[in-house]
Amino acid sequence: MNYPKNLKGIIDFYKSLPGIGEKNAIRMAINTYESNDDRINEFISNLQNMRTNVKKCSICGMITDNDVCDICSDTNRDDNLICVLEDYKNLFNFEKNNIFKGKYHILGGLISPMDGVNPEDLNIHSLVERIKKLHKPEVIIALTSSIEGEMTMLYLKNILDKYDVKISRLSYGVPLGMNLDYMDMLSLNKALDDRREIED
Ligand SMILES: [Zn+2]
Repeated sequence: MNYPKNLKGIIDFYKSLPGIGEKNAIRMAINTYESNDDRINEFISNLQNMRTNVKKCSICGMITDNDVCDICSDTNRDDNLICVLEDYKNLFNFEKNNIFKGKYHILGGLISPMDGVNPEDLNIHSLVERIKKLHKPEVIIALTSSIEGEMTMLYLKNILDKYDVKISRLSYGVPLGMNLDYMDMLSLNKALDDRREIED
């Protein structure tokens, strides 16, 4: 089927999103086309605002509308408890489940020499700078249990060991290769409660 070229661009965009097959992409594009002008204009303006205004928090690396995100600005949270995550999407799962009262630090990936991702490509320097300003903080390293996750964890432990900081990891109850985005509340809560200090 030859869709109009100007519709096909929209179909292709939707199709490129994870989890959206061709059929759904076509349906979404047609629904978008059939939306009234007000909705389309609002959508265009939302897209532009997102592109222009959503940025990374200057402290933790979470996406936010402001220079500092709501979590970093929240004085009711424990500054001395920092949960290190691979990706900001993991944070949504932690927050959705409302199980953590500390703060976060988003690495923006895992060390993976095979994929050309080295420590300096990640948001690690700013983590060290944060630690330096705290008094005996605890850092919980909550990364996917994979080779890259382990490698990143060991690297972080090495770097952070130079400071007076307790370093812990999620319990071994996290299944191998499990993406934290998909962990249910009970398992995530348990993995966090049963966290253990990383031994030398
Ligand atoms: Zn933040």
